[in-house]
Formats: sequence, structure tokens, C-alpha cells
Amino acid sequence: MSADGRRVLLALGGNAIAPAGSAGTAGEQTAHIDAAMGSVADLVAAGWQVLITHGNGPQVGNLMTKNEVARALVPPVPLDWCVAQTQATIGHTIANTLEHHLAARDLRRLVVALPSRVLVDPGDPAFDEPTKPIGRYIEEEAEVRRRERETKQRWAHQGDRGWRRVVASPEPRASLDLGAVELLHRQGAVVVANGGGGIPTVREADGRLRGIEAVIDKDLSGALLGCELDVDVYVILTDVRGVAVGFGTPSETWLSEIDVAGLRAHQADGQFASGSMGPKVEAVCRFVEQGGRRAAIGALDDIASVVDGTAGTQVTA
Ligand code: ADP
Ligand code: MG
Repeated sequence: MSADGRRVLLALGGNAIAPAGSAGTAGEQTAHIDAAMGSVADLVAAGWQVLITHGNGPQVGNLMTKNEVARALVPPVPLDWCVAQTQATIGHTIANTLEHHLAARDLRRLVVALPSRVLVDPGDPAFDEPTKPIGRYIEEEAEVRRRERETKQRWAHQGDRGWRRVVASPEPRASLDLGAVELLHRQGAVVVANGGGGIPTVREADGRLRGIEAVIDKDLSGALLGCELDVDVYVILTDVRGVAVGFGTPSETWLSEIDVAGLRAHQADGQFASGSMGPKVEAVCRFVEQGGRRAAIGALDDIASVVDGTAGTQVTA
């Protein structure tokens, strides 16, 4: 089926690139990205104009651990730098692999991965109540308290596995590199943007932009980018087949097609976990409520049918 130049924004989950249980070596991550890009090249061949965003949870956590372990030798860098670094490593790997798969199909397209900044409000209430756990677990409370004393870090107890650093996850307000994304996309390029939710950035009183330590949710920043670009479809690809109600219970039911009011009702009923499916559901609702025609959540393995509208959870107005 030809997609006739319709535009799709794909959001790839960080866990789909480095699945839980894999060691997450560069080779393994490259292999997962390579497999996904074969399917993305098929979408381009079918006539879709593709834009890509991606998560970076496991990758940014690994970078922070390196910072910590090496702190006596190399000064640690802030979290916004770590986000920028993961955009570059994941982005160039997408470019290498996708260009190869496009060339194998005789398709000539530029693939461009942009280091991209997303504006947040320094007065966002999320900065007073950091909730997003990142990086590795620490078991000893004394060590956690030492870090809190010596740095501005905040840590929270996460149950059996111990303590984890928590950072603010502020609302994405605007994609600051939107102009570059549009320019490249209009030239026919496949653009990778807002990776890892985008580099969290605030505007100072004098107009200057500055990175800030936070993590923006990639599903929400994808919804923002999808609205800003007015894409036809926003598709969130993850490691489950879609959205379930009663997830993990005997009455588990997978949703195939639902309107945004129905999905909002399940959300109000507390069906979606805040750190995982919650932001995806919020993201697809926002996209459709702000005028997007269709959004979907589904498995990376089912990418072609999720984009076509025949698999995953399909959400319309
Ligand atoms: P990603 O890295 O793609 O963002 P997440 O782990 O954040 O992936 O979110 C996907 C996970 O959400 C699934 O693996 C599943 O365990 C979990 N989940 C929580 N609630 C639900 C639900 N109601 N329906 C489907 N999956 C759910
Ligand atoms: Mg997630």
C-alpha cells in the first residue's frame, strides 16, 4: 500500500534499543537499531515521509555511571550534556544503519541526526519535586546522604533495589531546533530529532539559552514535535503490543482502536503506570486533541502494521 508522501513521526523506545537483560554493549545496541532501521527503510519505500525521535533511558544512565566512577580523573559533566551525548551516539548509529538499508532499496535520502534542544520553563513545578528516577541503584543510605550533601542531587528510595537519583521531568514547551528540522525535512531528509526527549534548555532573562539538569519525557516531546510539524501520524514504538487495561491481571484486555475520550477515561481510572505507559497514553491523547489525525502505540517488531493502522493501539479523535 502506498502512503503517498504522508508524514509519520516514529518514537523509538530506549528499552527497544537496549532491551532489559541485554548487556547494552555498543555492538548489541547497533544490532537492535540496525534491525529497526530495516523496517523504517521499508516504510520509506512504501512512500512514507519519516521523522524519528527516540528514548535514551538506559544510555543516559550508563553515561552517568561513567561520570561517577571516573570523577577522580575527569570532571563529571551535567545531565544536559549526557543527553546531548546520547543523541549523538544513537543518532549517528541510526544514520549509519538507515542509510545502508535505504541504499539497499535504491532509495537516495539524506539521514540527518540533529543535536536538538527543547525549551522548558525554569519555574516548572517539576523542579521543586523531582520524580524521574535515572541511573543506577545504590543500596547504602549513608552513601546517598553523602551525595545529597556534596552535590545538588536528590535521591529517592525505590523499594527492594535501594536508592536512585531522581531528577525533574519538566513539560516540553517548544522544540528549539524546529526550523532546522523543517528545512531538512522539506529537502526530503529523514530527520532524527528531540532524541532522549531533547536537551533540556531554559531561556535566561537576557535571552541566552542554557542547558539545565532534567530529563524531558521522550513520548511527550515527540507529541510536541509531531504537533509542531503537523505530521499525519504519531507512532510510539515500544516492547509491548499496545495499550492494555487491567495490564498484568487475569482480566488484561488489549485496546485495538479507541477514541481519545475513551482513552482519557481509562487514564482517569489509573490504568497506566506513571513511569512507563502513562506518558505514552498522555502523549497520544495530546497529539490527537491538538488536531493530529491519528496516533498509535505498538511493538517495534510490528512497526509496519502499527504505522498502517492494523496493529497496536490506534487512537483517533
Ligand atoms: P519505552 O522504553 O519504550 O519508553 P517503557 O518501559 O517506558 O518503554 O514502557 C513500556 C512498558 O509499559 C511495557 O513494557 C509495560 O511493561 C508497561 N506498561 C505499564 N502499564 C501498561 C499498560 N496498561 N499497557 C501496556 N503496557 C504497560
Ligand atoms: Mg519510557
